[in-house]
Parts: sequence; structure tokens; C-alpha cells
Amino acid sequence: MSEIKKIDYTVGKKIRESLQADCQSCFGLCCTALNIAASSDFAINKTAGTPCPNLQSDFSCQIHSKLRDQGFKGCTVFDCLGAGQKVSQTTFHGQDWRQSPEISEKMFRVFPIMEQLYEMIAYVAEALSHKVDSSLFNKLRLQLEQLQRATELEADALLAIDIPNYRLPVNILLIETSEQIRQSLIVKMKEKNARKFDYRGADWMGKNLKRKDLRATNLRGAYLIAANFEHADLRGVDFIGADLRDANLRGADLSTSMFLTQMQLNSAQGNHQTKLPSHLKRPSHWDH
Ligand code: SF4
Repeated sequence: MSEIKKIDYTVGKKIRESLQADCQSCFGLCCTALNIAASSDFAINKTAGTPCPNLQSDFSCQIHSKLRDQGFKGCTVFDCLGAGQKVSQTTFHGQDWRQSPEISEKMFRVFPIMEQLYEMIAYVAEALSHKVDSSLFNKLRLQLEQLQRATELEADALLAIDIPNYRLPVNILLIETSEQIRQSLIVKMKEKNARKFDYRGADWMGKNLKRKDLRATNLRGAYLIAANFEHADLRGVDFIGADLRDANLRGADLSTSMFLTQMQLNSAQGNHQTKLPSHLKRPSHWDH
């Protein structure tokens, strides 16, 4: 059997789809461990390690159904991808910081590290679901295994992780994935000049791109705040690190976009016509 036949692109897809927050199994870590600065997204200031005043004794939010109305839009955008339940149930074996205050400080420092590991796992798992060549697929698979092993470490070992050292090789692999996938689409589109698809870091804030064919565009790290992508074709677009706050995605086709996250979607506007990748959910605040 040739090596190419061993490639199973569904494994990465399944892992990516499984990365969902389960707030019932978490001890309100995003509402406690993280620093919150008052802004249009958060009505209050809160230091890291201090529970939000809206966090109840059972770790649920007392304003859950009216977060946006009460100035906590940022809470509806956040997505830990499952890092919260991993820290609560695996790293700290189901001990909660209210009943065991001696673990709280360490638990709150571990959470942002786990969150970053999960973010990298999500990107690498998604990359494995794209039709990359066998060499890149194998490198991605090894990288994913390394990240998954890191999430099983004890708390002290997690705290010792040098996150930038983990991010560097991941970033290189994600860039290679983006190049391969977008290049094959550019060839299918019979376009010769690949450079005209490169808008890394572009400032498209408020730009009107309604009904534009933007397939295979590299929008890595682009500023897309309040840009109008209504009914735009965004298949094969690399959105890693792009700022999509209040971007209009109504009717846009994102079905095969790359490295789009739930947080990016939650921060944007869309409707029932917006086509999404299978691992992302339609935000409840979008138009119906
Ligand atoms: S408002 Fe609710 S969801 Fe937001 S940080 Fe506070 S408790 Fe958590």
C-alpha cells in the first residue's frame, strides 16, 4: 500500500469537531482566572484570579441569558475549546478552587497555558483535515501528538511550558498548509499570479467587499473590523488571527475557509444564509 493511501483526513476533522467547551464540567475558569478590562465588550474591570461578581456558587452565570444587553458581549465571544474542563477534571482531578482554595492560584495560572495549547491543537487538527501532501500530513500529525501529550502534564510541568517555543513550529506548519491548500485552489481557478491573493495584515476595516470573489485569499492577521463581506465567496480564505469584529458575514460562503475560529465568528455578524465550516456553530445572536 502506498503512503498516500494511509492518509485519513477525517481524523483531524473529528478531533477539531470534538473541541467544544463544556461549562458544566468547568469551575468557571474563564470567569475567574482571566483579567478583564472594562470596554465595549465588558462592563467591569476584574483582575486575574478574582471571580466575576456574576459567577454563582454553582459556577453558572447569573446573567447568562442577557450578557449582551448588560454590557458583557465579550463573554458571548469567548471560547476555551475545552481547556476549562481539561484543567478542572484532568489536571486538578475534579477538585474545585472554592472547596480547595489552596489550589486556586496554581489552577488559575494553568488555565491560560492550557487554553493556548488547545488553540494550537484546534489549528493543527484542522490543518490535518485539509488535503495536504503526505510529508506535511505526517509533520502535522507528530505536532498534534506532541501538543496532546502536553495537555496531560501535571500542573507544575504545564506551568514550565515555554509557549512561544511551541507556537513557532506550529506556525510554520500552518503557513505551509495554507500555501498548499490555497495554491491548489488558485491553480483550479486558472489564476497565474498567486501574489495577488496575498493580503496578510491588510487594513480592510469598514471596506465594502459585498459579493466579491475572494477565494484563496490570504487574510492572515488582517484588520477586517466592520468590513462588509455580505454574500462574498470566502472559500479557501486563510483567516488565522484576522480581526472580524462586527464584520458583516450575512450570506457569505465560509464553508471551506481555513483557520476560522468560533471566537472570530462570535465577534462578527451573520445570518442563516452564512455557510460555515462543519466544526463551527452559528452564533445565537446572529439574524435568523
Ligand atoms: S458575566 Fe457571566 S460569563 Fe461573563 S465573566 Fe461574569 S460570570 Fe462569566
